[in-house]
Amino acid sequence: MTVLIAGGGIAGLTLGLTLHQISIPFHIFETTRAPKPLGVGINLQPPAVRELFALGLEDMLDEVGIQTRDYGFYTRTGQEIWTEPRGCHAGYNWPQYSVHRGRLQMALLDALRTRCGDSCITFGARVRRYETRCDRVTVHYEVQGSDKTASADMLIGADGIHSGVRAQMYPTEGPPVWGGAIMWRGTSLAKPFLTGQSMILAGNNTQRFVSYPISAPDGVTGLSQINWIAEKTVDPTTHFEKEDWNRRVDVNQFASDFSDWDFGWIYVPSLIAAATEVFEYPMVDREPVPRWTDGPVVLIGDAAHATYPVGSSGATQAILDTRILAAELRGHGLGSAAASAFEARVLPMANRVTLGNRGNGGPDAIMQIAEDRCKGDFTVLDRALPYDERAAHSASFKKLAGLSLEATNNAPALL
Ligand SMILES: Cc1cc2nc3c(=O)[nH]c(=O)nc-3n(C[C@H](O)[C@H](O)[C@H](O)COP(=O)(O)OP(=O)(O)OC[C@H]3O[C@@H](n4cnc5c(N)ncnc54)[C@H](O)[C@@H]3O)c2cc1C
Repeated sequence: MTVLIAGGGIAGLTLGLTLHQISIPFHIFETTRAPKPLGVGINLQPPAVRELFALGLEDMLDEVGIQTRDYGFYTRTGQEIWTEPRGCHAGYNWPQYSVHRGRLQMALLDALRTRCGDSCITFGARVRRYETRCDRVTVHYEVQGSDKTASADMLIGADGIHSGVRAQMYPTEGPPVWGGAIMWRGTSLAKPFLTGQSMILAGNNTQRFVSYPISAPDGVTGLSQINWIAEKTVDPTTHFEKEDWNRRVDVNQFASDFSDWDFGWIYVPSLIAAATEVFEYPMVDREPVPRWTDGPVVLIGDAAHATYPVGSSGATQAILDTRILAAELRGHGLGSAAASAFEARVLPMANRVTLGNRGNGGPDAIMQIAEDRCKGDFTVLDRALPYDERAAHSASFKKLAGLSLEATNNAPALL
């Protein structure tokens, strides 16, 4: 009775820890040869934090990130549109965390190796394809240039936005979909702004800046690691470099576009200049699909529902997927019935979030709405976009993504 997992990212590692917790044998194939702490900042919302706490990882989260206190939207001139408390400060029973993605991945891997031993994961192993028969699966993978096979009761495709497992289910799908936005991402040592645990988004649909600290201030210097994303939208028919989370670029490609972004409490040019390395990534997602299952094979995380990183729901939903899937495995046993039950619980909502994030459904859409209503004069904001409307916009995304205070605090434990 075994589960094979393609991908040792956030979803694959959390699933390994979860299966260990409920005593289901598993093995992870991860294509990277040597794990490294790659990526920059991501956010974990209270429902996902709750699940990581349930895995006994409470202390780990304080080591790889900080608790987010508030979340605010600003115009491109720095005028506040909407700010709300987050996590425990908003009344949730669990905090929200801003973390370094790579450090989180390494910490999950450490916890997995400590609990299950090194042999639960094979690095340098790329899952190529699978065959199903009688509710079992044979997985073909390549390791050190050799083709190998392994049989199991289930294969979980946790292999990210370029999932090979998904490509076998949808052979004509092609590459991820790009809407025209380019993100330049970096981290810089700087004094934290506002409350010191604030996440802010400023600008509109064509140009924006997102920033939040991912470490507590150093006791001596007072400086934190500040994560930032500078973003611009161009004509989506122009050429763009294929998405690669690790492509480094020169800040001169975009820094001049933000040269006058000085809000008094945050000075964007110096934040950009202080970064040791900057990564370029086109904002891509995947077209929602009607099925994530093929018998005992099921997709989770970005392999199932890659979405724009605008509502902090990518890693959050990837973690929730692992716990919901595990709950269904406990209820139905290993095999296609559990896979289908998981799909029925998560797919409709996740697909709605993906589509909402493309349009006006994401929380960040409030910035463009303010821009459109104010027509360049943000002094009229309160009249043009009344407080109640801003509050309703914020609440509607949380409802869409199942992240509202009531839904989170009142939900029974997933496992
Ligand atoms: C290197 C890297 C850096 C990232 N940086 C950021 C960031 O800075 N900000 C952000 O918002 N999101 C980032 N992401 C994406 C983010 O981790 C995901 O959106 C989210 O956490 C969901 O996680 P996931 O496990 O589904 O996917 P991922 O975290 O992407 O993990 C997928 C894993 O599958 C492995 N894999 C892929 N194909 C195969 C295969 N055929 N066989 C075996 N293994 C395979 C990959 O190497 C990867 O480890 C990054 C992802 C990666 C891989």
